[in-house]
Amino acid sequence: MDHLSETCREIKDKLSAYLDGELESALCAEIEQHLRGCDDCRVVVDTLNKTITLYRNYGQATVPPDVHERLTRVLNLQQLKTKGKPAE
Ligand SMILES: [Zn+2]
Repeated sequence: MDHLSETCREIKDKLSAYLDGELESALCAEIEQHLRGCDDCRVVVDTLNKTITLYRNYGQATVPPDVHERLTRVLNLQQLKTKGKPAE
């Protein structure tokens, strides 16, 4: 089953804003609902969440721009990985 749908793409676009608490509650609910049915996006959220938590534990309230950039790269990587999954 291919999970890389348009919805996944949209969700991944919004994830960093979602984790920053910048999205309105209607959008958050939409994302959470999608996450319940999509392992792929859930893994991405989990990874982002851990990274952000790690930085907050170091005393920074917001994610620095370079981390934000790295997270974006992780998201792109996830998409590539899903797209280029070899048939075993
Ligand atoms: Zn998804």
